[in-house]
Amino acid sequence: ATNELELAEAKEYVRSVYESVVRKDHHEPEFHQAVKEILDSLVPVFAKHPKYKKAGILETIVEPERIVSFRVPWVDDKGNVQVNRGYRVQFNSAIGPYKGGLRFHPSVNASIIKFLGFEQIFKNSLTGQPIGGGKGGSDFDPKGKSDLEIMRFTQSFMTELYKYIGPDVDVPAGDIGVGAREIGYMFGQYKRIRSGHEAGVLTGKGIVYGGSLTRKEATGYGCVYFVQEMLHGKGMSFKGRTVVVSGSGNVSIYAIEKAAVLGAKVVACSDSNGYIYDPEGINLDTVKRLKEVERARISDYVKAHPHAVYTPGCEGIWTIPCDIALPCATQNEIDEEAAKLLVRNGVKAVGEGANMPSTLEAIEVFLQGGVLFGPAKAANAGGVAVSALEMSQNSMRLSWTFEEVDAKLHNIMKNIYANSVEAADEYGYSGNLVVGANIAGFLRVAEAMLAQGVV
Ligand code: GLU
Repeated sequence: ATNELELAEAKEYVRSVYESVVRKDHHEPEFHQAVKEILDSLVPVFAKHPKYKKAGILETIVEPERIVSFRVPWVDDKGNVQVNRGYRVQFNSAIGPYKGGLRFHPSVNASIIKFLGFEQIFKNSLTGQPIGGGKGGSDFDPKGKSDLEIMRFTQSFMTELYKYIGPDVDVPAGDIGVGAREIGYMFGQYKRIRSGHEAGVLTGKGIVYGGSLTRKEATGYGCVYFVQEMLHGKGMSFKGRTVVVSGSGNVSIYAIEKAAVLGAKVVACSDSNGYIYDPEGINLDTVKRLKEVERARISDYVKAHPHAVYTPGCEGIWTIPCDIALPCATQNEIDEEAAKLLVRNGVKAVGEGANMPSTLEAIEVFLQGGVLFGPAKAANAGGVAVSALEMSQNSMRLSWTFEEVDAKLHNIMKNIYANSVEAADEYGYSGNLVVGANIAGFLRVAEAMLAQGVV
């Protein structure tokens, strides 16, 4: 067992590494937040294993192997030239090729991409698959753009990005603002430039050209499978529970679907403009039609279901009392106040479908309040896990059935839960899955880095 002195020393060491990160890039608040959450969790690891400090694993892991930033010029429908900025951060390749999505959203900057890429290292490791951590994107805003504008932009984006990626090098996928349509256009452009059908270069592809069944559903289903494990651990289940799911994109839609199948009543979801509350339970066919087919706003839901209520402003969704909260929209959507209100309203479990949707203060409120808390790295790892299964199928030139992939996904989520619980127990943080997931994810990467020397 570690003693007080070893712990104090480890704490001091971890703090000094964190401070050097802040000093180097002082204007990157989201990145610092993600680093702080991980580093604080790793104190007991450094207290127990001096070998990681000696090998400089921590100083190395917080520095991306490489970041590329590039110009993305394109012509809009009016004939005007538009210029956006593209990014790819290749954070860590110790256990496999860089893997992680692309986000197209006006908020995208180096801090956002670095926080996402950093999180991805540990998430990908937790899945148990051989994938390193990466992330990319652009400040391009897909909202309101025509199909042809999306095509021109994504082709221009890929004309630069293709230089840095490859099936054994770096494998992007979707994230906010990047779905099957965008992946399709990007794959077409990559294939044209490379003069070859390298299916494994992107995941989230359409089923007819190398995509995997269950990839679309994977993040949402996986999040619900993870929360189900947490609930079962306390003798509870989704049955009869009231659930609030923020967002109405790919993650939310399939979280709602699976929660409903397991007997829950999902009463609210949202988009960036506002949220809907349907006391009878969300009609998912309507949400799918609005979001997947018409690309409309969630406010239109009340046209089809007049008994439901639409409220402008998406933050208000957390004022709705619920047993289970699944934040599936974006980073920092639950702050301290929202967390306190959820706890006061009796929330029993929180599963993070989005990346870093709870602030550090909010996480503290949930843990102190005895809420079952499934951190993003663990709870939303199902998406990238099935991406890795898509890569496997591409390499083998075969496709598994929906049931086969779903069963593998379910199994992976159960393992992530079990490994996180075990790591938390081992390092003296029983019941704290934030610490458990961070340690379990870290150890695999750290072992690989140690084995590979100073590189
Ligand atoms: N964007 C997803 C994530 O945050 C999926 C990444 C992938 O499939 O590579 O994990």
